[in-house]
Amino acid sequence: MGKWKKAVLSGTIATGVMMAPFAVYEAPVTVAASSQAFDNKVVKKIDAETIYQHVSDLSVGIGERVAGTAAEKKAVDYIAAQYRSYGLDVDIQPFEFRTYQEAKEVSAQVAGHPEQNLKPTAFQYSPNTPDEGLTGEVVFAGLGQASDFTGKDVKGKIVLIERGTIPFVDKAANAANAGAKAVLIYNNISGTLKSSLSSTGKFVPTLGVTKAEGEQLKALLDEKEPVTATVKILGSGFVTKTSYNVIATKKAHKNHDTGQILYVGSHHDSVPGSPGASDNASGVAVNLEIARVLSDQQTDTEIRFLTFGAEELGLLGSYHYVSTLTEEEKDRSIGMFNFDMVGSKNAGEMIMFTVDGQRNVVTNTGASASTRVYKELTYGKVGRSDHQPFHDSGIPSAAFSYAPLEPEYHQPTDTIDHISKEKMENMAKVVSAGIYQIARKDTPALERSNVAPKPVEPPFEDRPL
Ligand SMILES: [Zn+2]
Repeated sequence: MGKWKKAVLSGTIATGVMMAPFAVYEAPVTVAASSQAFDNKVVKKIDAETIYQHVSDLSVGIGERVAGTAAEKKAVDYIAAQYRSYGLDVDIQPFEFRTYQEAKEVSAQVAGHPEQNLKPTAFQYSPNTPDEGLTGEVVFAGLGQASDFTGKDVKGKIVLIERGTIPFVDKAANAANAGAKAVLIYNNISGTLKSSLSSTGKFVPTLGVTKAEGEQLKALLDEKEPVTATVKILGSGFVTKTSYNVIATKKAHKNHDTGQILYVGSHHDSVPGSPGASDNASGVAVNLEIARVLSDQQTDTEIRFLTFGAEELGLLGSYHYVSTLTEEEKDRSIGMFNFDMVGSKNAGEMIMFTVDGQRNVVTNTGASASTRVYKELTYGKVGRSDHQPFHDSGIPSAAFSYAPLEPEYHQPTDTIDHISKEKMENMAKVVSAGIYQIARKDTPALERSNVAPKPVEPPFEDRPL
């Protein structure tokens, strides 16, 4: 018993004197053999089919799991039920966030010209129109530069502007400043014009149309007949939504408690339009399987299995979770293992990312475990996933993933068809062996961080997760 200092786990090999809690040291060869026996207690129980079933339940059964939606809550309830079935204490932690909601209704009609069948988009952050829309005469204002409005009366009118030369925000702001009641911007290349204004600034309702639609409308104006249009943007704006973290705790054995805490985390949300099989049902599935396997083992370390909401919106769930930790809990926290995108057939090799590109107890543990149960891992430097908030508050952390990342990243094609059972199984084996190495109650501390393969040079620089 007794609390080990963080220094014991820092990755430098301390002398045996510091390792007093369990004072028997084996020769290196024996250590390796006994490590393997310990590894086998968890690694052999990892079941690829169970992991795959979770991915199926989350990415096919539930599908897209955007933060703040009913589907996210379904995923949260599913995950919580799994953790509970392993006998863990489960807490669902809600948190609120502000998010921009896209318009529910967008239209533009040209009076007397039903052939002008416009299919506009609303610019993000554009104000809404009144329910009945805004009606006004359409006037052309070139590229919407300030000079295009000098000597032109656009007060109370709808301004037609061509894309190009200056940013959309400037075009829209110039039109609003000149007194326009709405803005139609048309593309200068083929395809839908879908873009964004800024969340600050004074704008009037601003819509995008295609190049063909804009040019047709411009041709009508060139006939010198007054053209009147009605535009509508309804239902857009900032709303407050609730997302959730799931916290499942495995307490240390009451007679063998180091007081230390380890975290295993994965985000459960996905981006809109993607079933998020690899990103990140795979990470949740591996997290669940490690929880299942470790829940049967006695440990001297508290292990918190976490899944986070709203990672895709800027790590909101993990930042929220870390903000709820007390200083005392942070002091007891020794490491965080994060899984993000651990299942695509089309991704590269297993890799450990740290925020600062430096090794730490988590990567040392991963390196050591991987050489025992899998193969040597590479390192890279990436933040921007849920290991970042832990790093920011001084808790050693790393994201386990595969690189280079898969082409289906954030696409509708991130489906279960591209999932590799083997990749997830290997990940679960490596990290469960690593965590068990730290957490099992009879570990000689010397084993905890002693094999660290050389980083690959240059490391994978930076990539989104
Ligand atoms: Zn992700």
